[in-house]
Amino acid sequence: MTVRTRIAPSPTGDPHVGTAYVALFNLAFARSQGGTFVLRIEDTDQVRSTKASEQMILDSLRWLGLDWDEGPDRGGAFGPYRQSERSEIYRSHVEILIEARHAFHCFCSGERLDELRQAQQQRGETQRYDGHCLALEPGEVQRRLAAGEPSVVRMKVPESGVCRIDDLFRGVIEIDYQQVDMQVLLKSDGMPTYHLANVVDDHLMEISHVIRGEEWINSAPKHRLLYDYFGWAPPVLAHLPLLRNPDRSKLSKRKNPTSIQYYRRMGYLPEALVNFLGLMGYSMADGREQFELSDFIAAFSFERISLGAPVFDLEKLNWLNGNWLRGLSDGAFADRVVQWALNRDQLMPIVPLVRERTERFADLIGMTGYLLGDNRELTSDSFAELSMEQEAVLEVLQFTLWRLEQVPDWERATLVDCMTSLAGALGVKIRALLGPLFIALSGRPVALPLYDSMVILGSDVTRARLRDAIDVLGGVSKKQAKRLEKRYRGLAAAE
Ligand code: GLU
Repeated sequence: MTVRTRIAPSPTGDPHVGTAYVALFNLAFARSQGGTFVLRIEDTDQVRSTKASEQMILDSLRWLGLDWDEGPDRGGAFGPYRQSERSEIYRSHVEILIEARHAFHCFCSGERLDELRQAQQQRGETQRYDGHCLALEPGEVQRRLAAGEPSVVRMKVPESGVCRIDDLFRGVIEIDYQQVDMQVLLKSDGMPTYHLANVVDDHLMEISHVIRGEEWINSAPKHRLLYDYFGWAPPVLAHLPLLRNPDRSKLSKRKNPTSIQYYRRMGYLPEALVNFLGLMGYSMADGREQFELSDFIAAFSFERISLGAPVFDLEKLNWLNGNWLRGLSDGAFADRVVQWALNRDQLMPIVPLVRERTERFADLIGMTGYLLGDNRELTSDSFAELSMEQEAVLEVLQFTLWRLEQVPDWERATLVDCMTSLAGALGVKIRALLGPLFIALSGRPVALPLYDSMVILGSDVTRARLRDAIDVLGGVSKKQAKRLEKRYRGLAAAE
């Protein structure tokens, strides 16, 4: 069999370390088998997908050395590799399913579906579509379509029975069809959902092994049904264990920096980060902890994957990165520092902020330390200069953090809007919010302009510093968190 693997990231935010982790295993398996590794962009969510995010994903993976053989930027024999450019393919495939009565048009309104969900929830049942539109006569369907009534296309799911999924790492997994929803395949805007596009593309791109995160196991029955409906042989399925926070919850940006950009900004070596990801749910046969990507590929075997929850432990990553740094020659070390931050690309966004404030280049070191590095030496005393109770400072930092988790893009104007509306909701002057933020981000009461600093630091570094500052101030107890959450929800409701 010709091995073809793929990663299929959705360009809806910062490039996630989980994407790099899945990419690493797909790449290693493909390379170890003399196969091909494909990168496909799953941008069917037109509202949340952005070009900027796509570009960052490509840049980050390339920085890590996780290069692909076929993809939107490289082309290949199975393109296009961006789902938004494949609409016609999905539409024609949906037609095949409708013809064969494996899929049907559904005209149910949002309100009806909400009511259905609520009623099922109250009865403690699995929330799923009740098949209402399955009963429509073909003539009526044609009439309503011709009249331009909005509709989606859903897939049929057997009423009863069990779906058996063969997972390479777990063996057979059984899922009751009763738990499987009659998934929407084509949305009312004519775009496919993930499930349809993913199956059609994996088949047409001749993907032999689908290696992806464990969170997709529940989607596997829908995919399996689609393969059967089309009469296609499904690929080998392998679900990798999810990365975890140290408290074993699913790795999330609420608790840990998750963007590859963060690790790049903070001066981790790409080879160290890849090495670290290679230790997630995997161990080398000889127990080695430090290895190059090429060694990982040469020794790669699915047998060495373990399903226990791999913890994304920053202390371990720091230790490993330190080892890698110590292994560099002096010359290489200096070169890598230049590549990291002391280069034109990194300095350009900072120059407009500092040039009016600088008399000698030597001034730059102190002024920009918090933007380039991470050595802020923040303590609770750092906040003492503010004429604010500690409790109030904590509240500002926590509310800001929650707000910033919601911002759709990390643009200056969006950040200004976000903070202005938070100040408005709290009924305070914007200055009252900015004081604690300056200190949390820079360690100093006065720094370079705040919003520009946030843009330069990026979303993950900014959020990580806010979380740090909250910790430095003693953290938020469970009880406090409850009270803060209640007040925060109240603010959102009042807006
Ligand atoms: N677009 C999905 C994601 O963002 C792909 C999941 C899969 O690999 O099937 O993770």
